[in-house]
Order: sequence, then structure tokens, then C-alpha cells
Amino acid sequence: MTPDDLAFDQRHIWHPYTSMTAPLPVYPVVAARGCELELAGGELLVDGMSSWWAAIHGYNHPRLNAAMKYQIDAMSHVMFGGITHPPAVALCRKLVAMTPAPLECVFLADSGSVAVEVAMKMALQYWHARGEPRQRFMTLRHGYHGDTFGAMSACDPDNSMHSLWKGYLPENLFAPAPTCGVDDDWNELDIVPFARLFAAHRHELAAVILEPIVQGAGGMRFYHPEWLKRIRAMCDREGVLLIADEIATGFGRTGKLFACEHAGIAPDILCLGKALTGGTMTLSATLTTRSVADTISNGEAGCFMHGPTFMGNPLACAVANESLAILESGEWRTQVAAIESQLRAELAPCRESPQVRDVRVLGAIGVVETHQPVNMAALQRFFVSQGVWIRPFGRLIYLMPPYVISPDQLARLTAAVVNAVNDPALFQS
Ligand SMILES: *Cc1c(COP(=O)(O)O)cnc(C)c1O
Repeated sequence: MTPDDLAFDQRHIWHPYTSMTAPLPVYPVVAARGCELELAGGELLVDGMSSWWAAIHGYNHPRLNAAMKYQIDAMSHVMFGGITHPPAVALCRKLVAMTPAPLECVFLADSGSVAVEVAMKMALQYWHARGEPRQRFMTLRHGYHGDTFGAMSACDPDNSMHSLWKGYLPENLFAPAPTCGVDDDWNELDIVPFARLFAAHRHELAAVILEPIVQGAGGMRFYHPEWLKRIRAMCDREGVLLIADEIATGFGRTGKLFACEHAGIAPDILCLGKALTGGTMTLSATLTTRSVADTISNGEAGCFMHGPTFMGNPLACAVANESLAILESGEWRTQVAAIESQLRAELAPCRESPQVRDVRVLGAIGVVETHQPVNMAALQRFFVSQGVWIRPFGRLIYLMPPYVISPDQLARLTAAVVNAVNDPALFQS
């Protein structure tokens, strides 16, 4: 990439959540292998992000590449209306088998946000079909469910600046976020505000939507499994649907295949995305129960009202299949457990830094929360100079490496984080 390419990028290309007039610098990456990104200048960076939870098997994986190449020669895409194909059937078979038993009807879509839209639409159509339309969703503060409007209406109102969309965005119900951490003793009082809000609105709720155990982009918070058990019980009692957004947590990241397993519960609707294709292509899935699917299908519309152009894209399905086949070997369990204990040991020294408010680890996720928002541009530059790719946001420096990372590579990531929190210059804005 030439300096001219970078200038063009700066002038003409939006990046996620950035300003067009004062964009932060971007780093040109030309290749990625295993757990390393290669910059245009030839430097190699150890990847601490898995490209936002997605690249769980590392980059340029020979099996994932082979699956895509094979599928390209058969067909890259064909419409899903009136047509089916082997990669979609094989993938959906695997998804039905690996997710909790009641989930057996799969809707394939293009991205995580769309999977959430589909889940919310399913809940709305379910209640409409029952002849008692309900249009309200309840969720937790500090949640994140995507950037499309339905999904945004369930995101934390402050983080996602609901004030910007007032009058356009549906107004959902927000309970205070859990304060009882995943490793804390259960505190009965923690869930009282949720229970009260739920009780007050139980007859208007279509569904509760939440990220099980790990709230991701809304604050990287880990909460107690008892929360989930209680919410499942409340929903069961009132017939309210429970939507679990496992787009970030799914496929082993938290130490269980799905985070719902920490609480031993099954949702009525499950959203999957991110790691579904091993970080190679965009694809998502929304699963639901036979009973929800039947109710929707017997309603006024006679069908579920959604059908994206690239639904069930064969190339994406083929590579997702192969990614799930890699997971089926079970190796991820030992990999994630090893990453967890190394993160616990090597991030612990961060607690001694006056910049640091909290250090927490669950599965292959390590979070260092600072008192002050980090200077993102300075910190990013620092990390690149240390040979690592870590992208902090707000008051959060976090690691979620590919499961195949070596202990040495992980040690480079944790050392860079420890060095960063001990450098006060990186925390002045
Ligand atoms: C990333 C994410 C989404 C949105 O997925 P996109 O593919 O970015 O649209 C939704 N929910 C959760 C929990 C996520 O982490």
C-alpha cells in the first residue's frame, strides 16, 4: 500500500465508529497467518482481538481455506428461495445438534445485527400470531446487540446514544446491569430491580433479550449465572420469550460451547454470528423452537416475513461447516482453559497500577478496566510498537486471542498490556 492509498482511505472511507473529518490512524495489513497480522512494512503483530471475536482458529487456516476453495468451484452463491444446497443443510444439521435441544429451526442471515433483527421479528410475529400483539422488549443496561435499528433499540441507551434517534427508535425497557460478577457469591438483591420491572410490564413484553454471562461491546462485564436462571424462570412463568444473543459468546469463547451452558438454560431464540465462519466470511444464524416456529407459521402472514438476498450463502455455509468441524474435535476446550489460566496469571500484575480499576478473566477473554478513558490513538501506537494488535475502547483494554495462540505469543500480548498500564503518559488525552 502506498502513502497515496492511505491518504485516499483517510479522505474517502468510513471505518467503524470514526469521524470522517478527524479519523484516527489506520494500520495497513496485507496478510494474516496463524495468530499474526502482517503490516505493509513487513512488521508482524501478534493478534489479541481475533478480529472482534471471529477468527477463533487463527488466520489463513488450511482447512478453512480448502473448504472455501472447494465450494467456489462448485458454486459461490445461489438464491435460497425455492432452492436448497448441501452446505446449508450440513451446517444447519450441525447447528441443531450442537445447540440446546429445544432449538431446532434455523434462519440463516448475513450478519450479527441482522440475526438480532430476525430474532426480534420472530418474537413480534409470535405474539401477533397468538392474537395478543406485544411490542416491547426488555433487556439489561450495558448490553450490545448490533447497529441496525431494532438491535440498537436493545443496546445500552447511553453507549449507543439513543438520544440521537429519539422519536424514531422503539422505546424498550432497561433493567440495571448485573453487578454480581461471575466469580462472586450470589447476591439475591442484585436481581430485584430486574424482577420489579419485569413484573410491572409482564403483560406487554414480547421477549427479554440479553447477552448471556458476558456483556461484550457494552462494557465487557461478566455476570453471575444465577441471573440467567432467574430470568429464564420469570420468562417461563409469564410465557415471555427469552432471546439469547450469543453472537460474541458462542463457539467456546467463555469456556463453554455456549454461554447459556454456564446457567444450564436454553433460550427460546438464539442468535449466532461472529465466530460462526471461523472469522472468514460474514454469516449469522437465528435458531428457535418448534413451538415458536409453528406459531409464527400459523399466524396471519402464514410465513416468517424475512428473506435476505444472500440468505444461506453456500460459500459462507461451507466454511462455517468446516469451522464447526474443527470445533467438534474438542481441542478448543483445552486451548481456552490454558488461555484462561495464563490470562489470570499474567494480567494479575495490572491490579497494582494506579490506572487500573479492575482486572477480570473468563474463558479466552481478559479485560483490564482503567479509571480514565484510554488515549486510543496513543495506546494503539504503543501496542503496535510492542509488536501486538490490541484495540482498546473507552476504559477497556481487552484480549480475546485466537484459541490456537501459543503461550509465547499470549505472553507478548499480556506483557504489552502490563507495560501499557504502567505508562502514565498513555492515559492523558
Ligand atoms: C457484534 C455483535 C452483534 C452485531 O454483529 P454484527 O455482525 O457486527 O452485525 C450483535 N450482538 C453481539 C452480542 C455482538 O457482539
